[in-house]
Amino acid sequence: MADPLTPEARSAHMARIRGRDTGPELLLRKLLFAMGYRFRLHRKDLPGRPDIVFKGRRKVVFVHGCFWHQHPGCGVAHVPKTRPDYWRDKFARNRERDARNEERLREAGYDCFVVWECEVRDERLPGKLREFLGPATAKQGRS
Ligand SMILES: [Zn+2]
Repeated sequence: MADPLTPEARSAHMARIRGRDTGPELLLRKLLFAMGYRFRLHRKDLPGRPDIVFKGRRKVVFVHGCFWHQHPGCGVAHVPKTRPDYWRDKFARNRERDARNEERLREAGYDCFVVWECEVRDERLPGKLREFLGPATAKQGRS
């Protein structure tokens, strides 16, 4: 049986299967920790199982793969030439699910922030995170 995945799709797919401790997410966690923030991971009781949860602040951060979540304007976010309809449909469903999760989180009182995979090493990211999260304080404790 022919493998329907293009090489780039396959490697993105494998990265996802390998799971939760993927490179970009780990880098982001290290960055946040170094900035003084404390957080929880992958809370199953929240819609979409957000990657990083700041319970006390009622905020969550998602780390989105540019290919699977189709980062607008990003070079990685192209539609593979093989079976383009299949991919367009798949990406549309991913985006719908993202939007639905975000809506449900807002209803539950949480603000969401998306960090794209390609932004993790961006020097502007710490400033954006601090703006979203507010100052890191010792008093904040464990979340
Ligand atoms: Zn991107």
